[in-house]
Amino acid sequence: MQDDLRSELADLVRAVHAYVAWQGESGSVGFPRDRSERESRELQREAASPPQPPEPEALDPAGRRPSAPAIPPPFSSHLFDEPAPVPRVAKPKIPVPAPPPPGEPRDRHVHLPRIEAEVKSCAKCRLHETRTNTVFFRGNPDAPLVFVGEGPGADEDASGKPFVGRAGQLLDKMIGAMGLDPERDVYVCNIVKCRPPGNRRPEPDEVAACIPYLHEQIDLVAPKVIVALGNTALAALLGTSMPITKVRGTWKYYRGTTMLMPTYHPSFLLRPTSNLVESKRQAWEDLQAVMKELGLAVPQKR
Ligand code: URA
Ligand code: SF4
Repeated sequence: MQDDLRSELADLVRAVHAYVAWQGESGSVGFPRDRSERESRELQREAASPPQPPEPEALDPAGRRPSAPAIPPPFSSHLFDEPAPVPRVAKPKIPVPAPPPPGEPRDRHVHLPRIEAEVKSCAKCRLHETRTNTVFFRGNPDAPLVFVGEGPGADEDASGKPFVGRAGQLLDKMIGAMGLDPERDVYVCNIVKCRPPGNRRPEPDEVAACIPYLHEQIDLVAPKVIVALGNTALAALLGTSMPITKVRGTWKYYRGTTMLMPTYHPSFLLRPTSNLVESKRQAWEDLQAVMKELGLAVPQKR
């Protein structure tokens, strides 16, 4: 465990130093359809592994917890910090439960509205104190593709719908570029259903309180593919602390059963950086892999 932890941390530190070098790498690998059975079983076991005990929090040289930085981030949205998530890796991972045992599928049109109503009056974490509206989903519960973001921002809190602000407009463009309709062809939701004040990242206890709603949501929608947008969605859906920069473009399994593609959060792609063109190209490459998996025609050029 200690060795695993050390090597994971070393990987992450290396990842930050190597970030610039990665810009030239495509990093995308399609899902190997001819993967041997043994490899598939190992992958599934890994994704459905039983709850892990929380990782111990590393202290910085001054003995402070890295989860309580003394210096505020330079941008109002922490999502812009995506390529350098190192201070956050020591936070405890939220375990991902095994999928429910097979049985009669429950009617999503009955149970999703029931969960949405439950969320509306939820007070399981402190985020309920400052919310205007809970934010459950938009799109089509019968869609084969689910996008998962982090949590509502100001626009979403005001409207009660996910991804309606600037990031949402970009997400819709990305969905449109896939030849899909954002309302008809996809289901869009978030890790937490109430806005974290000041658009801060949701705390692990808030994610832990809220994530059972999302697991139920995904069980009911039963998509063919999930796209995890950014580090928070990736960490919560897979129980990993690997950075999105390292994992994006590679197929994973959600709870050992559903294919999941990690890619950049649209808020990150709105940040004016020198690598923006390359990051957008990578995100498009990730979405093309999703299109291929869904049997959609992939345009040659965009
Ligand atoms: N960012 C998110 O992660 N989710 C939203 O709903 C809006 C912005
Ligand atoms: Fe409940 Fe989730 Fe809102 Fe917290 S964020 S109060 S767990 S709905």
